[in-house]
Amino acid sequence: MRRVSLRTRRQAAASPLRGSAESLARQNDRTEADGLERIEDEADLADRIAHNLLVPVPASPALVVNGNLSPDHRYCRPWTAAFLADLARAHAALFHHPFEVSSAVRTVEYQKHLRGTNGNAAQAEGDIVSPHLTGATIDIAKSGLTRQELAWMRARLLPLQQAGKIDVEEEFRQACFHITVYKAYAAPGLNAVEPRPSSPGSAPPRATPPPPAPPASPGQIASGGPVSVGR
Ligand SMILES: [Zn+2]
Repeated sequence: MRRVSLRTRRQAAASPLRGSAESLARQNDRTEADGLERIEDEADLADRIAHNLLVPVPASPALVVNGNLSPDHRYCRPWTAAFLADLARAHAALFHHPFEVSSAVRTVEYQKHLRGTNGNAAQAEGDIVSPHLTGATIDIAKSGLTRQELAWMRARLLPLQQAGKIDVEEEFRQACFHITVYKAYAAPGLNAVEPRPSSPGSAPPRATPPPPAPPASPGQIASGGPVSVGR
């Protein structure tokens, strides 16, 4: 429905993918439609991890996690992990170094704390809240990425957004791609629009989640700058 206006931006894939109140509302609607509840506190988070409703961010030689992100917040939904693994594989094949995930799952408790210290953070409660509270959303740091990599990211992410598999917003205060991934990303046959190959070396889209990545060695955890605390 809203995809029409986005389609006109196809030619402008190198322009930033700006966020909007409409996009944030859509992320809330879509994650609710996916049946995702907001994660209240650390006990709730631990319970969901124990039941495999949240899985580790797939750290690998192609994907590092910000070292300042607390270990029990390095989790996301399984289809979000599949998306990250696919993106990291395609990115590393072309650029031969990892990108950094700077935020993943958050709890309502933690988001309230962020609201107190950072005016850029989304609400923790109400109709429109940070989609990080569902575990479906991750942030990828822009720092360390070249202009060429930024353009590659935009060209890769925009078709996935147009296909209704993700929503992406670029944040500028803390320079990241904020990406909410929907269950449809991992559902074969649904929304079967493949991302356009944006450059030679792009990996073909996967229909199934990849096997779990081996645990990250300390060398794969970026010592990192600040974790992202925006939307
Ligand atoms: Zn974010």
